[in-house]
Amino acid sequence: MSLAEHIRGESARLAALCSACGECVRACPMTPYAAGVDAAAPGAVAAGMRDVLRDGPGTPEALAWIGACTKSGLCTAACPERIDAALMLRLAGMRVRGALGEAPRIPVREDTQFSPRVKAFARLTMTEEEQAQWL
Ligand code: SF4
Repeated sequence: MSLAEHIRGESARLAALCSACGECVRACPMTPYAAGVDAAAPGAVAAGMRDVLRDGPGTPEALAWIGACTKSGLCTAACPERIDAALMLRLAGMRVRGALGEAPRIPVREDTQFSPRVKAFARLTMTEEEQAQWL
């Protein structure tokens, strides 16, 4: 199975379990930083996120919420259906950032320090010879 097939399959599986009750949105500490989310009905924001997982366009509030996610995990703890809501958001985040080959629907942050951080971590575990070969 390809990564794209896995993303699509997990998206569909989780979306089918979600009732769009909005408890995950209510529990989220990032809603003040997501444009329009605090003013919207939590269930409508959740439904927009679920729509993204079903290949839909979502809503502006849902896209803002997805983009603001910092992986706190509080959404998962709040879900009455015992769904891994954090995974739903993560999948939705992949999708709106173009993981399936579509144009990104939210700004994709360029992380200029990603490679230096990986190398710094790798230096902790590699011999000097390995570092010379791989870094
Ligand atoms: S709390 Fe669970 S069931 Fe309710 S909207 Fe969020 S993911 Fe869906």
